[in-house]
Amino acid sequence: MQFKYFQQPERFAQWLAAPAKCTFCEAEKTCLDGTAFLGTDRFNAICPECLLSAKLLAQDSYTCEGDIEALKHQLQLRKPEKSTKAVRQQGL
Ligand SMILES: [Zn+2]
Repeated sequence: MQFKYFQQPERFAQWLAAPAKCTFCEAEKTCLDGTAFLGTDRFNAICPECLLSAKLLAQDSYTCEGDIEALKHQLQLRKPEKSTKAVRQQGL
């Protein structure tokens, strides 16, 4: 299994202990634990094939959460001519 942005997911991802019904394709197979994903849309399980085929794009679910405050600070440093309020409200 190979993901572009995640090396060795079979070792480091959060897998369900037993085969489960994938929320998206409804197949019973080895799945990632959906409760470990972030966002407002909740699901129980997603199989690697559904994850690779971008089933999460239509969901408010994602695998990581960036440091938004650090990003805003970096944007402010890069674009000092922009007001702090503009950066905080809109990004750049
Ligand atoms: Zn699936």
